[in-house]
Amino acid sequence: MNVRTRFAPSPTGVLHLGSIRTALFCWLYARHHRGTFILRIEDTDRERSTPENVNAILEGLAWLGLDADEGPYFQTDRFDRYAEVRDRWLADGKAYRCYCTREELDALRAEQLEKGERVRYDGRCRERAEPREGVDPVIRFKNPTSGEVVVEDAVRGRVVFDNEQLDDLIIARSDGTPTYNFTVVVDDADMNITHVLRGDDHLNNTPRQINMFKALGANPPVFAHLPMILGPDGTKLSKRHGAVDVREYREQGYLRDALLNYLVRLGWSHGDQEVFSLAEMIRLFDIGDVNQSASTFNPEKLLWLNQKYIIAEPTESLGKALVPYLEAAGLDPNDGPDPADVAEGFRERAETLLHMAASARYCYEDFDDIDPGSAKKHLRPIILEPMRAVRAGLAELSDWSKSGIEQCIRSVAESFGLNMGKLGQPIRVAVTSGPISPPLDVTVWLVGRERTLRRLDGAIRFIEARAAATPA
Ligand code: GLU
Repeated sequence: MNVRTRFAPSPTGVLHLGSIRTALFCWLYARHHRGTFILRIEDTDRERSTPENVNAILEGLAWLGLDADEGPYFQTDRFDRYAEVRDRWLADGKAYRCYCTREELDALRAEQLEKGERVRYDGRCRERAEPREGVDPVIRFKNPTSGEVVVEDAVRGRVVFDNEQLDDLIIARSDGTPTYNFTVVVDDADMNITHVLRGDDHLNNTPRQINMFKALGANPPVFAHLPMILGPDGTKLSKRHGAVDVREYREQGYLRDALLNYLVRLGWSHGDQEVFSLAEMIRLFDIGDVNQSASTFNPEKLLWLNQKYIIAEPTESLGKALVPYLEAAGLDPNDGPDPADVAEGFRERAETLLHMAASARYCYEDFDDIDPGSAKKHLRPIILEPMRAVRAGLAELSDWSKSGIEQCIRSVAESFGLNMGKLGQPIRVAVTSGPISPPLDVTVWLVGRERTLRRLDGAIRFIEARAAATPA
């Protein structure tokens, strides 16, 4: 069988983590089976669907590399097809026009509530012969009135629904526009979808959809309803728990592979393995291993994984990935060290690329003042002569290399009888303005000779002024 899955977002909002997790599972399942992954934009809700949201969806998927083999299809391009099915069903008696007015439906509802019955449309227009003047009818699907619909869900197992509980679904509104449950079925049938993976908030739609597949004369696909993702506080994942738009994770400096790795573990597991390459995910992913219970979004774990990926990423590509974050921080990646070298120097201490770009600011841009606390603590008169010696040594260094820099500082420390730390920390403060940076030789090397000498001069002036102000 050629596996065909689809991701079918409604562009009534941006792509959030839950929808990305669904997209990822659909994509992985298709890739695992060398099948076809289809993207379908469900934009029939014309008021709430916007081009910006469509764009957010396409951009988010592109960033994550969840490439579609077919599509994007847009449901608004398929209205003729939905009308064709609707008309055929009307002609075949599988659907009917319903002329009930709002008042009539309200009265029915009130009556059912009063009797303690389940609120549902009672199908009265199935037998109504005459149109009603002044009422634009809706079209309803004739749901079977008895028997059961069995959903053999690939995640949830067997779920049985009584047809008696299901009423006659509206498939077209009075303005003629088709409704969600109907368009999904027509599309899934036309597009030969074999596996529908989607959030379990759709489980209750499934028996109605199965009945419509049968009315179409099509085989229903395999359904797999994915468990919810909860926020750390146990409520449904939402804005309160962090970024909503998946693009924000990119802005915050997450690597796409880290995010995908994080998401694959929300609801799916393979033993107790946590880190999966994309190739491993494709090889190992199976619907049968999707958990039934909800999973919890854990931002710390995402950060942890991100750091792991930053550490493991090849230098060149990490450097390339860093460039847009340097630019976004207002820095010019061409006016300073090669971003790949910066990435290499900073990777051990950066949780995100955003954080890395911020920490590396002094590699590309001078600072106005040395951090006062660090200056007070480390730039003391006792260090003045050694610092002058380092400045002279670095100015003359024939080869601007990490080992050359290290040797120069070490020999100055030795000649003044200082240990490396006693000299190293003042130099670090002079060159970076603060007490924390990659190893000193790496830091100075990255900052470059010109900037380093200028900053050492600044620190020397600072110490001279301090010495002059201190009574001997
Ligand atoms: N368009 C629906 C949604 O965004 C998904 C429908 C489906 O996957 O069947 O929730």
